[in-house]
Order: sequence, then structure tokens, then C-alpha cells
Amino acid sequence: MTPIVQHWCDGKAFAGDSTATAPVTNPATGVVTGEVALASEGDARTVIAAAADAFPAWRDTSLAKRTAVLFRFRELLNERKQELAAIITAEHGKVLSDALGEISRGQEVVEFACGIPHLLKGGYTENASTNVDIHSVHQPLGPVGIISPFNFPAMVPMWFFPIAIAAGNTVVVKPSEKDPSASIWLAELWKEAGLPDGVFNVLQGDKTAVDELLTNKAIKAISFVGSTPIAQYVYATATAAGKRVQALGGAKNHAIILPDADLDLAADAMVNAGFGSAGERCMAISVAVAVGDIADELVAKITERARTIVTGDGTHNSDMGPLVTKAHRDRVAGYVDAGEKAGATVVLDGRDVDADGGADGFWLGPTLFDHVTPDMSIYTDEIFGPVLSVVRVESYDQALALINDNPYGNGTAIFTNDGGAARRFGNEVEVGMVGINVPIPVPMAYYSFGGWKASLFGDSHAHGTEGIHFFTRTKAITTRWLDPSHGGLNLGFPQNA
Ligand code: NAD
Repeated sequence: MTPIVQHWCDGKAFAGDSTATAPVTNPATGVVTGEVALASEGDARTVIAAAADAFPAWRDTSLAKRTAVLFRFRELLNERKQELAAIITAEHGKVLSDALGEISRGQEVVEFACGIPHLLKGGYTENASTNVDIHSVHQPLGPVGIISPFNFPAMVPMWFFPIAIAAGNTVVVKPSEKDPSASIWLAELWKEAGLPDGVFNVLQGDKTAVDELLTNKAIKAISFVGSTPIAQYVYATATAAGKRVQALGGAKNHAIILPDADLDLAADAMVNAGFGSAGERCMAISVAVAVGDIADELVAKITERARTIVTGDGTHNSDMGPLVTKAHRDRVAGYVDAGEKAGATVVLDGRDVDADGGADGFWLGPTLFDHVTPDMSIYTDEIFGPVLSVVRVESYDQALALINDNPYGNGTAIFTNDGGAARRFGNEVEVGMVGINVPIPVPMAYYSFGGWKASLFGDSHAHGTEGIHFFTRTKAITTRWLDPSHGGLNLGFPQNA
């Protein structure tokens, strides 16, 4: 009997009525290590009802008590993050150091949310009209849904739930069915930290679970992260059901390397950002745009470095782990086949990698293409694997046009020693997150994370002040205590005096 990863409802594991499950696999061995429950509509309704029942008491819990729970959660997470990292590596495949990195970036959002009393402060205006004062407050929305992708099973839910909970909402997290265990570990940690039952819930499942979250009347907002077609579907469906929605989608991130750049720095950056986490990051660089006559030297430097990458089991001392599933591995290898067929130069071929891991692991080594052109599928599509394409252009303007013509706009970077060029790029590029000599410009928790164009649907980015804004609504209260009745009857629209 393989273990079944269940839902988490009202402070305890919940099996639900559905008998449907999906396999959970260790990508480094290919072995099925468990099953995950796939919720029926009824199971989803039960979990959502728990979040709805817990809302009034949590909303009315003092900020002092809420922050005490958040600080405790932060301490427990910090003490025990090795356990969570091991769970992530076992189901996602990323190497342990990378799993710890994602936890740290999620923990930053918990730390940001610990400042919620300051962040929730409203405004007060005395004597807006004679003896009339106005104040505003930021109140929670209610139960909210968080739907997350496979590639960051801890960090992406943590972009949202610390702020949602701190602001007084209750939460239903729907993790990816490919790596569902991290959410249950986080649920247990919340319980240990003293969070009341029903405030943090986990709903395991697929489209059935998602659709119930998108349409159930009790759910007031949806935070989604995943591929662009599903983000679009989630945005359209949940806004039509009257919900507030932020839906973060896919990416095709370019880095421009100008002729004056430090090519060693740029080559290091291309390798780290192209092949880290096997390219399964929404902020991975998948296109290096070489400007002018530096391309040969840049490609040589990237190749020299990428050859040293050890691909293997994330629990060994590897640099890069496997891809998440066999189907995804084969899809990425299919893109490598297509790139070769389309005439791009295969400088490094990951298809024949000799990985330090199980014979049935989902392996694909670092792959580098040169002379890639914008009509090739390796350029047009989000591959989400360890495949880096070099496109050669003559000028900065051509490089910028490539990025601005791209349908995605998540992250980008420029490598240069020219401050004026960097300043111009920051101003002109149509992308939400920009790095200047920084390849993966993921903003800190007190800034907001989000792309432009087909990389985000909705008005609010994740965390930072936009996160506070997303998970609250503002109420303005106008008050008169002194001299309240001297206006007499007056059916005109109220005017200030
Ligand atoms: P995905 O879109 O396949 O799945 C995301 C979530 O949606 C999962 O929980 C999944 O169960 C659910 N889902 C899948 N198909 C669905 C359907 N038909 N109806 C309703 N729900 C459905 O994405 P993924 O493969 O898990 O993750 C990789 C993608 O996520 C990449 O495109 C990557 O760029 C993107 N991503 C974006 C960001 C960002 O910040 N913009 C961050 C991380 C990942």
C-alpha cells in the first residue's frame, strides 16, 4: 500500500469521499512513492466550508494574537526547514540547496507579514467638514483560494498565505498534484504555531478541485500561479463568478548581453539562471541575446562552465536535478529534437547526460543552442527545462525589440558596464521584473512580484504592498459626534463646510 497524501481540513487530515488519486513520483529514481487524493466537488465544498466557518473568529482575533502566531510560525519554519527541503527534493527533484533557497524566499514573506499591524494601518482625517471626521480601515475579504504550480511547492503558496492570514482571511491552498506533501507539512506547522483550526486548509486535486474554488460563492479571491493558458482560464472563470483574481502565468525570459559587459559575469549568470532548478523556474533565463561581436566568446564561456555541471539526484552533491515527470522530460527533449531539426547549432546536448542518479530518473542535462532564430519553437515556446538559446543580434534596439515583441513579460536582465544603457533599458523594456547585471531579479517580499502581458492577469502582483491591497478591502467611515442635528431637513447632496 503506497501512502495517500490527503487534504487538510479544519486542523486535521481529511480523506474525503473521492477514491480518485494520482501518483506521486521521486523524479530522481522514477519510483512512485505515494498517491495524492483528487478531491470530488463534495470534498472541495467540505474544505471550503471549514475555511468559511473559521473566518468570523479569525477576522475578529486581535492583531497582537495574530502576529504572535506568525512569529511562532516563522521560528518553527526557520528551525525545521531541512525537513521541508527534503520533502521538496523527494517530489520535485530540485537539489537540496535549491529547495532550501525557495524556503528562505518564502520565509521572507512570513517575515514581511509579521509587520501586519503597521501594514494594516488606515488613515484618519479630523474635521473634514465642521465637526465631521473620516477614517479608513482595511478589512479582510473572507476565505480565499491559492492555486499553485509544481515548480515551487513551498515558496509560491508562501507568496500569498502569510499575508492573507495575517490580514484576517482564511485560506484554502490547492497545491500541484505533482508535489503535494509540502503543503501538508506547512499545515502541520501552522497548527503547531497555534493557528486556529480552519484558518489554513489544503485541498488536493486537479481541475475538479480548482473549478469548485473558482465558482464557490464562499471564496472571495483567487491567487493563481501556473501556465498562461490555465491562468487565463482561472482569471476568466473566477472574475465571471465575481471574485477578485490575480493569475500569474508563464514566461520566456531574455537576458541582453551588451558588447561592453563583463563576459565572465554574464556567462556565470547565464549558466546559473538557465540551468538552476533544471530550468523549471518562471524566472529562468531561456534566451541569451548576444549583441554585436561578442557572441563567439560568450558561447565559449557559457559552454566551458555548463560542461562542469553535475546532473544528478538532489540528495547527492549534484548541481542540477531531474525534471519533474517523465512526460515533462520527454516534452523538453522533444524541443531539443525540434531545435536541432530547425537548424540551430547544438553546442551542448543534454539528451545523452550521464546522471548521478537512478536509471529510471527523468534526466536531461544542460543543453545549449547557438544561432537560434525567432521562428524556431525553442524560441517561441516556454520550454521549462535546462535549455538555453543564444540569439545573435547587431544592436541594442534589435535586442529590445525582441523582448518587447514577446507575448510574455515576466523577468529580464541586461549585462553591461554602461549605466546609461542600463537606465534606458529599465525605462524602455515591457517586462515586470528587471535585472541590471542580475540574472534572476526576484523582488524581496517588501516589493511585489509579478510580470506583465501574458505573464499576469489581474491588477495586483504578489506580496509587498500589492499583496496587502489584494487581501483586504478598504472601508471609509464618516463620523459626526458634536452638534449633530443642526442642519435640519435638507434633501440636497451632502457638501462639506
Ligand atoms: P499548470 O498551469 O499546469 O498548473 C498550475 C495549477 O493549475 C496546478 O495546481 C494544477 O493542478 C492546476 N491546473 C492544471 N490544469 C488545470 C485545468 N485544466 N483547470 C484547472 N486547473 C488546472 O502549471 P505547472 O506545470 O504546475 O507549473 C509551471 C508553469 O507555472 C510554468 O508555465 C511557469 O512559468 C509557471 N509559473 C509562473 C510563475 C510566475 O510567477 N509567473 C511562477 C511559477 C511558475
